Amino acid sequence: MFDSLSDRLSEAFKNFKGQGRLDEKNIQDGMREVRLALLEADVNFKVVKEFVEKVKERALGQEVQKNLSVGQQVIKIVNEELTLLLGGEQEGLVLKGKPAKIMMVGLQGAGKTTSAAKIALYLRRKKYKPYLVPADVYRPAAIEQLTVLAKQLDMPVYPSTTEMNPVDICRDAIVKAEEAGCDVMLLDTAGRLHIDELLMEELAGIKAACSPDEILFVADAMTGQDAVNVAATFDEKLDVTGVVLTKMDGDARGGAALSIKSVTGKCVKFVGMGEKLSDLELFYPDRAASRILG
Ligand code: GDP
Repeated sequence: MFDSLSDRLSEAFKNFKGQGRLDEKNIQDGMREVRLALLEADVNFKVVKEFVEKVKERALGQEVQKNLSVGQQVIKIVNEELTLLLGGEQEGLVLKGKPAKIMMVGLQGAGKTTSAAKIALYLRRKKYKPYLVPADVYRPAAIEQLTVLAKQLDMPVYPSTTEMNPVDICRDAIVKAEEAGCDVMLLDTAGRLHIDELLMEELAGIKAACSPDEILFVADAMTGQDAVNVAATFDEKLDVTGVVLTKMDGDARGGAALSIKSVTGKCVKFVGMGEKLSDLELFYPDRAASRILG
């Protein structure tokens, strides 16, 4: 995760080696490289522009810190700004409903079903009793997939069929989850290859019927800026509460992680780091920034 960006930035910071102090010229030169590194990492163009301006401004206004070299001063500013770009503070799940409801949304193949099961496992480790709800009735394999994962995890799952209506499934599942003594429900909704109006209406219907505590937009990190654009559309329609970025294990660039907060205002809450159900991590912006800067 972030490997190529990390390499490119450490190259960029070599510009400051041996420089006595920060001035307009060396900041300009160094930041040109940082800008290129971020663009190569597939970070949103506007986000890069604002980021570079901010770092330049702070670097120029910087009091000389005698204990830090010029390079270290710039790295410190970049680290702080990268942390903000990645979301600032770590944001966990906010679960208040009884039972609490987490609705997973996103395009087909993004990793919704896998992430629903991963989050269920994460929550069980936090002493919750999760209930899984397959609400993608268009792909029989999707119901089967979540049912198999539920069996693997030894968790109760709603007996959805492809003849049922997704809104009815979710509504009825609330009753069944309560009967089963569960306190958190994971609603796995349908995806499409592309955004379409009907899907959005269905998701809005589920949202209205269930009032989810969390609506998590699940995005495949490897799709970079596409993931960010799709996130913005889902957020416009559904007002999502957070993002799960999957397949971070295969994403060396990091463009989606670095742009999604600025573009949508929503934080990455979890990252998927592999196909196994235990491959889920809370996302800590400050740790990710430090990792990028080596
Ligand atoms: P859905 O259509 O959105 O429900 O997507 P799925 O949950 O079926 O996931 C699509 C594929 O991505 C599956 O093969 C998953 O195993 C894989 N996948 C999901 N999350 C991750 C992840 O974090 N890392 C990797 N490497 N693969 C993942």
